[in-house]
Amino acid sequence: MRAAVMEGVREPLVVREVADPECAAHGAVVRVEANGVCRSDWHAWVGDWDWIGIKFEFPHVLGHEFCGVVEEVGPEVGGFAPGDRVIVPFSQGEGSCEQCRQGLQNVCERGFAPGFAYWGGFGRYVAVPHADVNLVTLPESIGFVEGASLGCRYMTAFHGLFDQGKVQAGEWVAVHGCGGIGLSAVQIATALGANVIGVDIDADKLEMAKKLGAVETVHAGNADPAKAIREITKGGAHVSVDGLGIAETCRNSIRSLRRRGRHVQIGMTSAAERGEIAIPIDVIVSRELVITGSHGMQVPRYASMLGMIEAGKLDPGALVSRTLALEEAGDVLASMDDFATLGVPVIDRY
Ligand SMILES: [Zn+2]
Ligand SMILES: [Zn+2]
Repeated sequence: MRAAVMEGVREPLVVREVADPECAAHGAVVRVEANGVCRSDWHAWVGDWDWIGIKFEFPHVLGHEFCGVVEEVGPEVGGFAPGDRVIVPFSQGEGSCEQCRQGLQNVCERGFAPGFAYWGGFGRYVAVPHADVNLVTLPESIGFVEGASLGCRYMTAFHGLFDQGKVQAGEWVAVHGCGGIGLSAVQIATALGANVIGVDIDADKLEMAKKLGAVETVHAGNADPAKAIREITKGGAHVSVDGLGIAETCRNSIRSLRRRGRHVQIGMTSAAERGEIAIPIDVIVSRELVITGSHGMQVPRYASMLGMIEAGKLDPGALVSRTLALEEAGDVLASMDDFATLGVPVIDRY
């Protein structure tokens, strides 16, 4: 198969032929039709996440944000068959631990993700383990390009707001960092009936946040965003999301909350923080703030999100900024050094 191959940390991806993946007895081979290029790919490409154990043997094939068509299933797979259109959530489980047994494979005790634990969607075919646990049917009405982010950014934002942040209609939601996750969060929180404030240091991203439903935007380079949000909302946001994962956005998110507000941490940290960010504990105590993490989304929650997409209330396609040939993926990845991507770039030509 053709793949954009990572040969080393920060080395340009090389498009070449590699061996087709083999199908496990419990797995499925998926023919990738579309794969989003995500900031998590960039973290892995620059070697940012070796401290959490993500260290590749080269060659390696990235890509954890894809959908496609089942090409082959192993003999133990009962729920899927060749020809099925599928979303492949990145937050995968082995199906038998305490969390998986409750349908929470996104926090599986032995969880793994395509493009990290095994070769992913920068190649034409991907062997997905434990297919009955880790695949979701992609409805006919949703195209592959718009469906790609349903395996990562879009579903992560949905779970973060809906299940973890418990956003209610009429609440103020602040979204810090308007990259792929942040812009998804803007659109979804708006659909849930919230008043959304987008925060970023890039005017183009703020413009896109407005198009996706943000009622206000704050340019973090010009003002203290937490103070600006407390003023706009007359006391602070009910829910605030850090969609980026750097110390500044995390702290700003917490500081922008009103009393009893909920902070949802979606972005993972970089080498600069290595997982540790100092946060204002006394403020958290005295204002009874809730701090919650959010990781991917469990398969059983997909029905709610897909139902809203099919009903026209959510439109993940609106976040796709451009489609790419496989050959262009490496350059797009490298451009994330300076946060140059707007919305979600999706590979759809292999
Ligand atoms: Zn992603
Ligand atoms: Zn598990």
